[in-house]
Amino acid sequence: MSWDLLRDDEPSPLEELHDSLASSYGLRILVKRDDLLALYARSEVFPAFCGNKWRKLKYNLLEARKAGQSGLLTFGGAYSNHIAAVAAAGYIFGFRTIGIIRGEPHTPLNPTLAFATTCGMELRYLDRTEFKKLRENKWQDISLEIPDHYFSIPEGGTNDLALKGCMELGAELNLQTDANFFCVPCGTGGTIAGLHAGLKPMPVVIGFPALKGGAFLYGEIQKILGEQHPKGSLRLRLETDYHFGGYARGNPLLFQFIHHFHAQHGILLDHVYTAKMFFGVFDLIKKGYFPKGATICLIHTGGLQGSMPISSF
Ligand SMILES: *Cc1c(COP(=O)(O)O)cnc(C)c1O
Repeated sequence: MSWDLLRDDEPSPLEELHDSLASSYGLRILVKRDDLLALYARSEVFPAFCGNKWRKLKYNLLEARKAGQSGLLTFGGAYSNHIAAVAAAGYIFGFRTIGIIRGEPHTPLNPTLAFATTCGMELRYLDRTEFKKLRENKWQDISLEIPDHYFSIPEGGTNDLALKGCMELGAELNLQTDANFFCVPCGTGGTIAGLHAGLKPMPVVIGFPALKGGAFLYGEIQKILGEQHPKGSLRLRLETDYHFGGYARGNPLLFQFIHHFHAQHGILLDHVYTAKMFFGVFDLIKKGYFPKGATICLIHTGGLQGSMPISSF
């Protein structure tokens, strides 16, 4: 359909956040509004296909088209933003889509999966044992018939083509700001890896894993970056205390934060990723983590599809 959407377009906006707490610590806060990325390019685009999912899918979609594939196939959990993003991308660009979902089918479908089917995605379910085989790339061992004219994208969407897309986030920021710190939420680590690789060498990049035990991501990020970025050259920190109980978990404190932040700044955050990172940054500010005079850039990676009522699609 509209391949123009993927052309090198205007960068997503970088906004100053006027926050009295940050100012009282002598800090300047910027928000990179990647949540507005696709909306920026074309207003009727679904909110599912924005943010870091837009960055990660961009070159995958172009590659699928180049390879003449008629469909996209991917897999993930029932609340995965990646599943929603692939479904939306398929709808927009005219690919058939299959989403292999971990676990049992539940009715009614949750908002993420309901949205995916509205976009035309065909859902198939695999129990946890079988799903594990998928994660290990043992496609031949699973009980599903997989059509071979589908372009396969891994769980969470992280591959070399996604890294290329996320490096453009870093390249954009190089032209927009010389902030000292860049903060980003992490799932698989693909986005932070690309951001880190695309940024000029000076600033510190801080990741906030949305999963429990996020320290394993150091190794994952290293793997994603591969040989070009040898060990020890990373200017990367992970703040692993802001998972709020684990992936997609939350507590009243987190939801209160989302509410207050929206009331104060007019910016919506999702509870799976972005709210945990924003909360973490403000908590670290209060603990004196950032040196006075520093500029901190927070990457709003999107993710609002799961928090929206289905009627708004
Ligand atoms: C998927 C997602 C992430 C995690 O990205 P990774 O590249 O897997 O680390 C972060 N933020 C949002 C909003 C997401 O949807």
